[in-house]
Amino acid sequence: MSDRRRKIDLGSSDDNGNSKRNKQDVNPWTGAPYSQRYYNILEKRIKLPVYQFKDELIAKVLENQSIVVEGETGSGKTTQIPQFLLEAGLATQGETCVACTQPRRVAATSIAQRVADEMDVQLGSEVGYTIRFEDVSDPHTTVLKFLTDGMLLREAMHDPLLMRYSAIVLDECHERTLATDVIMGLLMEILPKRKKGSEHGELKVVVMSATLDAEKFQEYFHNAPLLKVPGRTFPVEIFYTAKPERNYVEAAVRTTLHIHQCEAPGDILVFLTGEQEIEQACEELREKSRSMDAELVVYPLYSSLSPEQQRKIFSEAPGPRTPGGPPGRKVVVSTNIAETSLTIDGIVYVVDPGFSKQKVYNPRIRVESLLVSPISRASAKQRSGRAGRTRPGKCFRLYTEKSFHDDLQETTYPEILRSKMSNVVLTLKKLGIDDLVHFDFLDPPAPETLMRALELLNYLGALDDEGEMTELGYQMSELPLDPQLAKLILVSPDYGCSSEIVSIVASLSVPQIFLRPRESAKQADEAKAQFTHHESDHLTLLRAYNEYAMIPDKERKQWCWDNFISERSMISSVNVRNQLLGIMKRLDIQVVSSDIKGDGSFSSVDIRKALTAGMFMQVAYRQRSGEYLTVKDNQHVYIHPSSVVNNRPEWVIFEEFALTTKNHIRTVTVTNVDWLVELAPHYFDLENFPKCEAKGELEKAYSRIAQSRSRR
Ligand code: ADP
Ligand code: MG
Repeated sequence: MSDRRRKIDLGSSDDNGNSKRNKQDVNPWTGAPYSQRYYNILEKRIKLPVYQFKDELIAKVLENQSIVVEGETGSGKTTQIPQFLLEAGLATQGETCVACTQPRRVAATSIAQRVADEMDVQLGSEVGYTIRFEDVSDPHTTVLKFLTDGMLLREAMHDPLLMRYSAIVLDECHERTLATDVIMGLLMEILPKRKKGSEHGELKVVVMSATLDAEKFQEYFHNAPLLKVPGRTFPVEIFYTAKPERNYVEAAVRTTLHIHQCEAPGDILVFLTGEQEIEQACEELREKSRSMDAELVVYPLYSSLSPEQQRKIFSEAPGPRTPGGPPGRKVVVSTNIAETSLTIDGIVYVVDPGFSKQKVYNPRIRVESLLVSPISRASAKQRSGRAGRTRPGKCFRLYTEKSFHDDLQETTYPEILRSKMSNVVLTLKKLGIDDLVHFDFLDPPAPETLMRALELLNYLGALDDEGEMTELGYQMSELPLDPQLAKLILVSPDYGCSSEIVSIVASLSVPQIFLRPRESAKQADEAKAQFTHHESDHLTLLRAYNEYAMIPDKERKQWCWDNFISERSMISSVNVRNQLLGIMKRLDIQVVSSDIKGDGSFSSVDIRKALTAGMFMQVAYRQRSGEYLTVKDNQHVYIHPSSVVNNRPEWVIFEEFALTTKNHIRTVTVTNVDWLVELAPHYFDLENFPKCEAKGELEKAYSRIAQSRSRR
C-alpha cells in the first residue's frame, strides 16, 4: 500500500498552464486508466487559484501539525485541498483516511460527489460521505471522507483520539457553527496526544476559512502557519436602495426582473431566507418573465432539496428563445448555502435583501428559535463577492447605505453564543470532558447557557445531581437526537409503544411531511384531514407514517402525490426509523407496539403518556383568560395555525417554540395535569415554582393523587 500512495499524481501543467496529457496514466486508487471525463475536469481544476499553491501547501502540511488556509470562496479549497493531502501520502487505504468537515449536509453530499468525479472513482468507495442517518463510505476503501462537523463529533464518542484519521480538514471555519467550535475545542485536547512520533501517530489539521479571520485561528492553533490563496476576483459595483424596502421578497423579485430586462448578459444569484419564501419568489419570477423577450430559467436552492434538484443550479444558462433573439439567463434563488458552501460559476449579478435565518437562544426562557434576522457586514461583503468570480459584476443591496453602516453588525456572532447547549454538553460529558468551564473554546458560551443545559440534562435523568453521567445518559448520547427525543425513545417501552414512538421521532427528524402548496392549500388541508388525530400533531404524523408503510412500494409515489405528502421526506423517515431501530437493538431497547391487531391502530393514551414522559419540560397551560402560558417560564404562546389541535385543550406539550410575529408553539399534543405530576414530580416540584394559574391546578392534581394513594 505504501508504494502505491506515492504514485498519485493529480496531473501537472506546463508553462502555459495546459495539462500534459498522458493517456497511460493509471488511477492509483482503482488501478484503472483514467477516463476522458477525468481529463476534462482536470483541465478546469488546474486553473483554480489553489492549484498554484499545491506544492507549498503539501510542504507546509508535512512540516506542521496544524495549518490555516485562507482563500476566497470558489478558489478551490474544498474540492482540491483534501486531494492534495492524499497526494502528500496522508491516507493509507484500509487504515487511515483524510476527513473534510462541512457545516451543511448539502455541501457534504454534493462536494463528495464532485470530488469522486474529479478523482474518477465511485462515490461511496474511495471517496465517501457521512451525514446523520446516512453513511456512504467504506472503511476498507475510503481514503477521503466528507462529513458534517456534527458527525465527526459523534465519531469521536467511539474513537476519542480520532484514530481513523490521519488528517482533518476543517472547512468553512469562518461560519463558526456550533459543531465546528466544539470540534476545534476537542482538537485542542487531541492534538497534543497525537503529535509526530507519538504512539498514536500524527494527526494533521488544516483549518480553512473564506474570510479574513485567519489570525484568530492561527493563534488558537498554537501559531499555526498561514497559507493565503489570493482570489481571482473582479471589481463588484455596489448599489443601495434610496429608501428602506417594506417587503424584501417583493423587492427581490422586482430587482431581479429589472436586471433581466436592462443589464448585459450574466447570471443572477438572489439571497432569500428559507424554502417557502424561495419557492414563492421562484414562482413569481417564472410567471412574470414568461412574456419577456429573453428567457429566464429559475432554480431554487435550499437544504431540503434532493441532490438532483440541487445539481440543476450548475446547468448552463439558456440560449435565445428564437434564432438571433436576446440570450437567456439563469437565476438561482438561494438560502445562505450559496454564500460560501456552494459556488455557482457564471454569476454576475447578486441581489441581497440583507436577511438570513439565524438561530437565537434565550437561556432565561429556554427558547431556541430560527429567526429571520439582518445579516452582518461580513456576510454582505461575502454575498457581493459572489458576483465578481468570472468578470466584473454588480451587487444590488436592498437596503440603504446608511443602514449598511449603522444597523448591520460587523460580523455574525458565533453560533455557540446563540444556541442551547444541551446536546453539546451531553456529547462532551460522553467524551469524558467534565470541566466544561475550563474547556478551551475559541469563544466560550455564556455560563447561564451551560447552566441551563446541565439543568435540562439533570431533569431528564442524563446527569445525576453531582453532574455525573448516568446509565440513562450514556444511552441517550448514543442516539443522534436532541436529548428530549432520545429520552422519549428510551422511556417508550415502558408505555408499550416504542414502535410507534420511533416512527414519530423519525417523522420529526425529516423535513415537513405534509405539503401545502399555496395554489392548492384547500386540497392539501382536505388530504391532511384524513390523517388528523384531533388530540395530537404527533399522532397525525404517526397515522400518515403508518398508512405510507402499509402501501405497496410501487404505489407509494402516487399515494404521496395524491395526499400532498412529501415522498422524499417519507423515504427519509423510513430510513431514519431503520437506523434508530438498529441503535435501539444495540442498546437492548425493546421494540413494542400498542397495535395488537396489526392494522396500524394504536393506543392514543399510551403514546400521549410516553410523549409527556419525554417532553414534560415543554408544556403550556390555558389560562382562564383563554391565553396559553408556558409552564415555569410564563411566556405567552399561541398554538400554530398549522396544528390539528384546535379545540383549545387545557394542557399541551409542544415540540417547538417558533418566534415569528407571534410566539407560536408547533407540533402539539394534548396532555393532562395528572400525568405531568405523576411522570415528572421532580420537575413539577411546587416548592420552588413560580406563581401562576397552572400552579393551582398542579396542587390539585397532587392532592388527587395523594388521596387515591391513601384510599389504596
Ligand atoms: P472553495 O471551497 O474555495 O469555495 P470549491 O472547491 O468549492 O471552492 O469550488 C471550486 C470550483 O470548483 C468552483 O468554483 C466550481 O467551478 C467548481 N465546482 C465545485 N463543485 C462543482 C460541481 N458540483 N459541479 C461543477 N463544478 C463544480
Ligand atoms: Mg469551500
